[in-house]
Amino acid sequence: MSAIGIDLGGTKIETQIFDGTWAVVGRRRDDTPRDYNALVKAVAAQISWAVAQTGVGTPVGVGAAGLVNPANGLALTANLAATGHPFPADIADAAGCDISYVNDCRALALSEAVFGQGKECRTVMALILGTGVGGGIAVDRRILQGPTRTGGEFGHTSAPAHLIARHNLPIWQCGCGRMGCVETFIAGPGLGRLAKHMTGRDVSPPEIAHARDGAMASVWQVWCDLTADLLRTLTLIADPDLIVLGGGLTKIDGIVDDLTQAAIAAQLSGFTTPTIVLAEGGDTSGARGAAFAAWQAQRHD
Ligand SMILES: [Zn+2]
Repeated sequence: MSAIGIDLGGTKIETQIFDGTWAVVGRRRDDTPRDYNALVKAVAAQISWAVAQTGVGTPVGVGAAGLVNPANGLALTANLAATGHPFPADIADAAGCDISYVNDCRALALSEAVFGQGKECRTVMALILGTGVGGGIAVDRRILQGPTRTGGEFGHTSAPAHLIARHNLPIWQCGCGRMGCVETFIAGPGLGRLAKHMTGRDVSPPEIAHARDGAMASVWQVWCDLTADLLRTLTLIADPDLIVLGGGLTKIDGIVDDLTQAAIAAQLSGFTTPTIVLAEGGDTSGARGAAFAAWQAQRHD
């Protein structure tokens, strides 16, 4: 048995081939084209390259940022030239095989649930804190998803009114078109925006997190409280066994301890909180999760 996973990002397309033990046995990386037709061709070329080694019929999973609307099959994605196109269908046509197309945050959640920190847990929630904020929930080693395919878009829930009022924060416009999404405060650019608003200075997220005193400490605490409030909401809905953090902001030293403290303070009085850990799959999580989803789809659909 083998499986193919593709991590399709805004700058690189990386294909990984997995053997029967889910170890990586082949890898290919290309730059991501900016033009839609070239993008489809580049992804299809990687699939053909991988299938030539594993054999026709190998499950192929493509993990990419953004959404595909199940009502019309069209993609909506900020960092790929695919918005408004039937991207999964075009890739399948060009490659000449079926593919599973998986949101990258959902792929990471599945990978961590099956292979990573959550492998002893029933319900694993991933929260990706990067340029945007997204996530996914895996239950019994399957991605929890339904007819809208929007489950996991945690960043586009509303920011908590009590914290906005307490800290006198503005309501910012989100990339999704709505006002006041929590992503506008807690994604990487949101943390910078918070610092600018609260201190008047342009500061990078690592600088904010490392300055544990003075004005920047307040900024970091507000960020932790806003993020912990999202974790509280998600816990009240899904009550996961484990929360796995991924994305660029998780490189900040002490983020797990600080968020754990903030989550305990945010939780309903006297109740425990889910354990928070960092994703351990590193840069293979997306491809491995997508490959695993494709393998599951082929076995069970
Ligand atoms: Zn939004």
